[in-house]
Amino acid sequence: MVGMEVCRDIASMRRVVQAARGLGRRIGFVPTMGALHRGHISLIEAAQRDAGFVLVSIFVNPTQFGPNEDYGRYPRDERGDLEKCRAAGAEAVFLPGVEEMYPGGARTTIHVSGLSETLCGRHRPGHFDGVATVVAKLFNIVRPDVAYFGRKDAQQLAIVRRMARDLDMGIEIVGCPIVREPDGLAMSSRNAYLAPEDRERATSIHGALLEGRRRILSGECDATSVRGAMMRVLSAGRPSTIDYVSVVDPETLAEVERVGGAVLLAIAAHFGTTRLIDNELVERAESQ
Ligand code: AMP
Repeated sequence: MVGMEVCRDIASMRRVVQAARGLGRRIGFVPTMGALHRGHISLIEAAQRDAGFVLVSIFVNPTQFGPNEDYGRYPRDERGDLEKCRAAGAEAVFLPGVEEMYPGGARTTIHVSGLSETLCGRHRPGHFDGVATVVAKLFNIVRPDVAYFGRKDAQQLAIVRRMARDLDMGIEIVGCPIVREPDGLAMSSRNAYLAPEDRERATSIHGALLEGRRRILSGECDATSVRGAMMRVLSAGRPSTIDYVSVVDPETLAEVERVGGAVLLAIAAHFGTTRLIDNELVERAESQ
């Protein structure tokens, strides 16, 4: 690989992609908000394995943050991120500023109904409209063959998949496994905010997911009792707020009453002032 292209404007990004496509390369795209960690790197590696030309975008998108959320203090590390992209084998990075992405604001919004209002959508109004819209913009700029998203953000993945399908974008959407710290905490750029005591307690999120999984795999069918068991484990970690502990259908994201074949266990909770999310897909043979 000869140097990595770093593009800050849409026109030069398009030129780089066109050149790669002209060489017959398949374009793999990894959209991120930066402060890259091993979770992000795993997406870049997945893209490299099956796409070829890997393009990473780093853009802290203001429209997906609520007025009292952490847009202003979201961790930013441009130099470190570029180094990590280079080391992971990315061939291009798109690093637009807010003015480049939203010159004079924007009047068009993509809303994926049904999937955007539940779970995190209930607690972060407008969040997924911001996500869907910026992902659509990035897709239009990059026009990738395939795009990679982490299952860590399961609702986001479901929304992006649905948007790509509904709008016939012709882009393959690949979901990648959740990368965790050795003690089970899902990697997140926001983990950097956690005070040491909160960092330790936050492992109760994964503990609660494992408890839910254990119960389901041992035959429990009543979603309310699974939720209750998860809630007890999570509460033992003393989160400052619990947004939700949910047992949902993996596709519709609607709460289920009885556990059938596959369910998504999903949690959002605050430790100190840090909001964390995590989930676990549990698949059980129908005969159980
Ligand atoms: P973000 O920078 O947080 O917007 O995340 C960019 C992409 O990385 C999204 O597709 C996330 O789902 C994915 N991602 C973030 N954390 C993880 C993780 N721990 N494991 C796998 N993918 C992740």
